[in-house]
Amino acid sequence: MQIKKKFLGGIFCSLSALLMAVEPQAAGDGQPAPQLRIVTSFYPVYIATLNVAKDIPGVQVVNLTKPFTGCLHDYQLVPDDLKTLANADVFIINGAGMESFLEKAVREIPQLKTIDAGKNIALIKDKNGANPHVWLSVTLAMKQVQNITAGLIERDPAHASLYQHNCDDYVHKLEVLRSRMKAELKQLKSREIVTFHEAFPYFAQEFDFKIVAVVERDPGSEPSAREMVETVQLIKKHKARAIFIEPQYPDKSAHAIAHETGASVCLLDPAVTGPMTENAYLQIMEKNLAALVKTLKD
Ligand SMILES: [Zn+2]
Repeated sequence: MQIKKKFLGGIFCSLSALLMAVEPQAAGDGQPAPQLRIVTSFYPVYIATLNVAKDIPGVQVVNLTKPFTGCLHDYQLVPDDLKTLANADVFIINGAGMESFLEKAVREIPQLKTIDAGKNIALIKDKNGANPHVWLSVTLAMKQVQNITAGLIERDPAHASLYQHNCDDYVHKLEVLRSRMKAELKQLKSREIVTFHEAFPYFAQEFDFKIVAVVERDPGSEPSAREMVETVQLIKKHKARAIFIEPQYPDKSAHAIAHETGASVCLLDPAVTGPMTENAYLQIMEKNLAALVKTLKD
């Protein structure tokens, strides 16, 4: 999850020489090279883009970070990333500050064209600044899909109607998902939840949950003893029934807190890793819906 990449600054050879040495990658196996090479920053942006660019001839979607990387809070670019970006016709980001490495990327590759999927989205601010986990609101995920579509149409107007068709199709699937989630989650009496990292405020806002505590406040660092005690007190005070952990993070502290409070531990997936397939986001959200209903019903 929090894989610290070795900082590029340590590399001795000149970066511009490295980039000049990068040949456009041949497609191999007799396939023509793609006409539009789209690179996405990380998993949720990749899945959204896969849907928008589906079945469009000559368009290739590549994800920059490894599928198991997860959120990019502490991510640092490695030389291979710069090669991938140097070969990109367009780079699609989540925005909202998730890609903290972006300034460096733009500095190294000034010709890099970027589409910000988070454009014109109202952000929730907390003590760490704007919260970047917008895709966990299904409504905002739709907005991201629309932003990606607008950006791709601008870059590749020849395929405008295909992008738009794919966008409408996927947004419709997201609308169906959102209606079902709203209908089922509305029934739940218990609306106070404890989550693992600060990934769920947009989800909570959309589906009317209250996050009473977050186990790991600083992604990638274990909570301090004092933070653990505070979390236990908050769970007891609000009679929260479950701690929702994330498959991408170690869950030792969550289990310790559960043991103290009698709360159960369940999975809530922030959709930052998973299968690299079109329907992955829909499937992950379906699982989240089922987990919430199972844990918080009656
Ligand atoms: Zn995160």
